[in-house]
Amino acid sequence: MKSIQKNLLVALSAVLILSGFAICGSYAAGWLAGGMAAAVAFITLPFVGSILPSLTRSLARPAGIDNDGIHTSPVTFRGLPGIALAVSFTMFYVVIYFGDRLTIAGTSVQHVLQKSLYSLLDPISLIMRGAPSDQWFFYGTVYTAAILAFGLRMIIKYRHSRYQIIRTVSVMGFQLFFAYLIPSLLSLFKQPAFYFSYFWPLKPEYLYPYKWAELAGRGIQTPGFWFLAFALIMTFVATPVLTYFLGKRWYCSWVCGCGGLAETMGDPFRHLSNKSLPVWKFERWIVHGILAAIIVITILLWINSATSGTIFGQASALLAEWYGFYIGAIFSGVVGVGFYPILGSRVWCRFGCPMAAYLGIIQKYFSRFRITTNGGQCISCGNCSTYCEMGIDVKWYAQRGQDIVRSSCVGCGICSAVCPRGVLKLETGPVSSRRVWEIGV
Ligand code: SF4
Ligand code: SF4
Repeated sequence: MKSIQKNLLVALSAVLILSGFAICGSYAAGWLAGGMAAAVAFITLPFVGSILPSLTRSLARPAGIDNDGIHTSPVTFRGLPGIALAVSFTMFYVVIYFGDRLTIAGTSVQHVLQKSLYSLLDPISLIMRGAPSDQWFFYGTVYTAAILAFGLRMIIKYRHSRYQIIRTVSVMGFQLFFAYLIPSLLSLFKQPAFYFSYFWPLKPEYLYPYKWAELAGRGIQTPGFWFLAFALIMTFVATPVLTYFLGKRWYCSWVCGCGGLAETMGDPFRHLSNKSLPVWKFERWIVHGILAAIIVITILLWINSATSGTIFGQASALLAEWYGFYIGAIFSGVVGVGFYPILGSRVWCRFGCPMAAYLGIIQKYFSRFRITTNGGQCISCGNCSTYCEMGIDVKWYAQRGQDIVRSSCVGCGICSAVCPRGVLKLETGPVSSRRVWEIGV
């Protein structure tokens, strides 16, 4: 079955690379063929490639973790097929985000793709949104299909763990309903396409003055006002309260679409996260730096709006634009997903997501959540550290019998699921009872 999975992944890479060559080349016919093949591949191969082998494997083996060969497969350990997959993912994001800026023989890639690829989904889009498909509908469909397909694979793989099943069903449901179906139906009924599973600072525009003017400018009788009010309450009330009781996992591992893709499609790459001390230091600087940047930008925008642009002129808007391009598009999309097969599945969540930084600060200082360790049972096998997607050296804590209270921990629970000795438990309790006697959270 491993060979089936490997062959399907190689086939997926080949088709996507073909699409990539078409982007770089000047042959329109090759591009169209590549584009069509990529559309079909993106939507169908994840289902076939992930569910089929997992289903058959599950019939043949008892329930439990199966990571056999993950460190020897060239797909999951930075071999050529893995690099090809990373290039394909990256190019997919480049085309989705910047297709209108790329041209082939004088024609924009966006235009060619609209005709050859995105329009394939016109029938579904017309029913769901009352409008033809575009790159964002295509992207949302592929993204949702990937989470559903690989989510099923995840459930099968970790079917011995109730926690893994529940949280995987949760991210699948939030993606399907809150990030795909509901925004589409809102468009169908001529309402703003609002994403109820994203809030500031991950979705910074929900706190930008222009968005409030656009959606809430006509007062409380408009749905847009209540949508933004909901997002505001989620950011400043629900997030601290839920994180206090549950840790940041309530969002990062149960709700968020970025985390959803990382936990499902990214699962075979989780061991690629770097666990070194220098990278941990870099992670803390960059992720908190990005949180600080979006706080400053949001404040500047509101000051500028309140003073009718007399203080900053276009400067604050340019900063917001810069942030949207480099952080919102390049970092979260192109690098965040494109580099799964090279740097692991949570590159964006670990190094770039301002929401993760905000949640992490609350988790570190105020949350009842911790992972407890029964150090006497630890055999130092290192499974927990190996499969921690956030680069946490879990074994280090387990060997000392110390609770894990790390701001970056997304509470995925995989460390606990792969531990052969039942050392690690995701628990809650009074903040003062956390057993943390080393500085270094
Ligand atoms: S420490 Fe465990 S629960 Fe936390 S992110 Fe790492 S694997 Fe997931
Ligand atoms: S997986 Fe379990 S036994 Fe192995 S090092 Fe981690 S805590 Fe110890």
